Amino acid sequence: MLQSSKAMFKLEDVSKCFRGGIQALHSTCLELHQGQFTVLLGPSGAGKSTLLRCLNFLSSPTSGRIEVNGLGTLNGNRRLLRAHRHRTAMIFQQHQLIGRHTALQNVIIGRIGNYSIWRSMRPLPDSDHILALECLERVGLLDKATERVDNLSGGQQQRVGIARGLAQQPTVMLADEPVASLDPATSEKVLSLMHRICSEDNLTAVVSLHQVGLAKMFADRIIGLAGGRIVFDGLPHQMTDNVFGRIYQNRKQTSEKMAARPARKTRSVTKSNNGGKNEKSIFDTDVSHAFVNVNHSSASR
Ligand code: ADP
Ligand code: MG
Repeated sequence: MLQSSKAMFKLEDVSKCFRGGIQALHSTCLELHQGQFTVLLGPSGAGKSTLLRCLNFLSSPTSGRIEVNGLGTLNGNRRLLRAHRHRTAMIFQQHQLIGRHTALQNVIIGRIGNYSIWRSMRPLPDSDHILALECLERVGLLDKATERVDNLSGGQQQRVGIARGLAQQPTVMLADEPVASLDPATSEKVLSLMHRICSEDNLTAVVSLHQVGLAKMFADRIIGLAGGRIVFDGLPHQMTDNVFGRIYQNRKQTSEKMAARPARKTRSVTKSNNGGKNEKSIFDTDVSHAFVNVNHSSASR
């Protein structure tokens, strides 16, 4: 069933090399199928976010070609890219919600992409508010619609993030470590919700995770990454100990190398509420950029 479905994404020799020569993704050929829930699995630094972000050019590939079903080749075509982003919901680890706004106000942001920048500055039609409320209802948070999101729990905030994505009425959902900041029980609930919604709406989902258990529980297909390369591509039950070793072996080697190195003072980076993990927040840069591109597509023409 899964193999016979149409490809939503076709990647041909897609690679990403960051400034300084960091090869985050080696030349990759890949098809991602419509309606599938694909998990990108791998340790930190494996290239999951890079691959995911290449799928909507939040990170532009250094080489290669990305074709999406119904639109064609995205590379260098701003009009197609806007259309693609418009139908792609992006879910982030840190939710990227506006804390002082209510859940409903945050979800309505998902509708702004349908309007010009000028029109979006005025209140949106009632139909958008109704749709946003329906989306909140689908994630079980209708009763929190008027609550400020910074008063909600981490799991509830991520559900608001999912509702905001749904308000876009997407065909694709890309989620970058959507449960990395949540406890195990909440992680399972949030992923279960995401999986159910993607299945009900026949969305093509690509979700990066580092937890093998969750990947096996929810994925239709698991793509294992290590060192910027695909080292496994198969069904959850094919994830044997051997495969697990292939995906996580590099990490072991890397951490052993790091442990052997003398301690070095690290430069502090931006704000982080992910339990002290020293990770650069993308909120101030790429995400806002993505929303501008998605939401004000017609105005920037
Ligand atoms: P993952 O999501 O699996 O943790 P990433 O895709 O974020 O991995 O990173 C893959 C590699 O690319 C890592 O070595 C990381 O340090 C590097 N990298 C990621 N983003 C950047 C960037 N903006 N500039 C330079 N290097 C980066
Ligand atoms: Mg990542």
